[in-house]
Amino acid sequence: METLTQLVYGVYLVAGILFVLSLAGLSKQETARGGNLAGKVGMALALVATVTLALIESERNAAVTAALIALALGVGALAGTWQARKVEMTQMPEMIALLHSFVGLAAVLVGFNSFLTDSHGGAVHLVEVFLGVFIGAITLTGSLVAFGKLSARMKSSPLTLPGRNLLNLGAILVSLGLMGWFLAAPSIWPLAIMTVIALAVGWHLVVAIGGGDMPVVVSMLNSYSGWAAAAAGFMLGNDLLIITGALVGSSGAILSYIMCKAMNRSFISVILGGFGATEGGSPQGAVVEGEHHETSADDVAALLKGAKSVLITPGYGMAVAKAQYPVAELTSKLRAQGVDVRFGVHPVAGRLPGHMNVLLAEAKVPYDIVEELEEVNEKLPRTDVVLVIGANDTVNPAAEDDPGSPIAGMPVLQVWNAEKVVVFKRSMAVGYAGVQNPLFFKDNTQMLFGDAKERVEDIVKAL
Ligand code: NDP
Repeated sequence: METLTQLVYGVYLVAGILFVLSLAGLSKQETARGGNLAGKVGMALALVATVTLALIESERNAAVTAALIALALGVGALAGTWQARKVEMTQMPEMIALLHSFVGLAAVLVGFNSFLTDSHGGAVHLVEVFLGVFIGAITLTGSLVAFGKLSARMKSSPLTLPGRNLLNLGAILVSLGLMGWFLAAPSIWPLAIMTVIALAVGWHLVVAIGGGDMPVVVSMLNSYSGWAAAAAGFMLGNDLLIITGALVGSSGAILSYIMCKAMNRSFISVILGGFGATEGGSPQGAVVEGEHHETSADDVAALLKGAKSVLITPGYGMAVAKAQYPVAELTSKLRAQGVDVRFGVHPVAGRLPGHMNVLLAEAKVPYDIVEELEEVNEKLPRTDVVLVIGANDTVNPAAEDDPGSPIAGMPVLQVWNAEKVVVFKRSMAVGYAGVQNPLFFKDNTQMLFGDAKERVEDIVKAL
């Protein structure tokens, strides 16, 4: 038994290293597949090792423990497989938000269980329980609200209660007081009262955040769920859970930071909640007046034939239309004719970080022509034609020109600096942030209305 337990800890270490390699691999498109594989192997090893450990340490009949674990794993695997097969790429962020809520719920349950069953833990154990339940409860309701907002089950506009920061601060101070009570006289009461407060804080933090800022929230909740898992790892004395939780917690925090920079927001204001509120400005920004110019697929094909350099900026609409395949075909056709085609991907285009990169990779667009914001903006004045395929907020000049706009200060792709711009969308409707887009009314912009996939297919045919 002793040797088997040692072996399990050895496997934990290997799984931990595989998780680190997985993250390193996932940070670049070229190595992402390898990273994904390392993560899967690590998780399989972790599961086998954990089940083995549970059987070794089981106080009751090992067969009963094995049957209970198999039942839980079976139900989870069935539900997970069913959901993963049915989810659309565009629903991925809401699914991720929902999954984070499970991590939060698990941390709360583990915390209560650990408190009720382990009475000899001492002060350190009590602090672990208290913090684990606190972070878990915030993650639980915060993620459920994010799920509600992303899946349009809840209104995406921010709810700003008067004195909201004071409310949050008050809740934290009361929770600290409750922790003092819990440590001085351990009982279920301070833990239960704090849980209710933390559930309310989680709800309040995310409900106060506007739709356009949801990407940062999703990645922040990712970070919270990691810390909740790490706290559960401390309570269970499981080293691998601590390592995994810390990896998820810190990588989520780093991603949130990078996204904040990409959207010109302050990280602290995100942590405090109330982020994305439209104080001062009107929710729609300035009213845009003017006329737009419509074009046809044949005219765009003619325009592309005469172009030397073309930039394609995809957005959420490309994902909805599943237009990435004809877009890839159009790209290879133009490249075969000697046109320099590049892609400009905004860090928050689509509905989850890296959304566009995944779609373009799926359609086998070469990685080396997919460029990032700064690189693209610098080259745009020397670009003949820009095709804006289902993007809206990420190419909105109001972010630079209208200080009252809800997206003011967010770095955008400056497509209007190119010679000609063609915008593919179905109507003049606003994008995710609900802001009008003056780009559509500029003299060098033409609108190509209709489903992005059909319109790109028409252009490919015309070429
Ligand atoms: P937007 O969401 O601003 O706009 C998408 C546009 O696509 C719409 O204006 C819509 O116009 C058009 N569209 C929808 N379906 C189709 C279709 N079938 N064919 C053609 N066009 C279509 O997109 P962006 O990618 O530019 O911006 C992303 C926004 O989402 C940002 O505000 C960002 O903050 C937010 N966000 C980003 C997340 C992330 O992590 N990337 C996560 C959550 C939110 P129409 O209806 O007229 O067709």
